[in-house]
Amino acid sequence: MSTPQPVQMRVLDRPLTCVVCAGDEFTERTITVITSGVANSGLNKSAQAVACASCGYIHQFGTGSVTRA
Ligand SMILES: [Zn+2]
Repeated sequence: MSTPQPVQMRVLDRPLTCVVCAGDEFTERTITVITSGVANSGLNKSAQAVACASCGYIHQFGTGSVTRA
């Protein structure tokens, strides 16, 4: 099992900083938001999530807002 390497992220061309601990490194993952009430139905929306490498707080965004710095 490989752990994603923490990287700095940008949101709308501004550096992303953790709202909890002010950390600036995150690991990226894609999550599925259950909007249809049924998991794995193919009708759910996907979102982008980045987890703070320091405290683990997960910041969620609509897909495409976050880019790697
Ligand atoms: Zn943090």
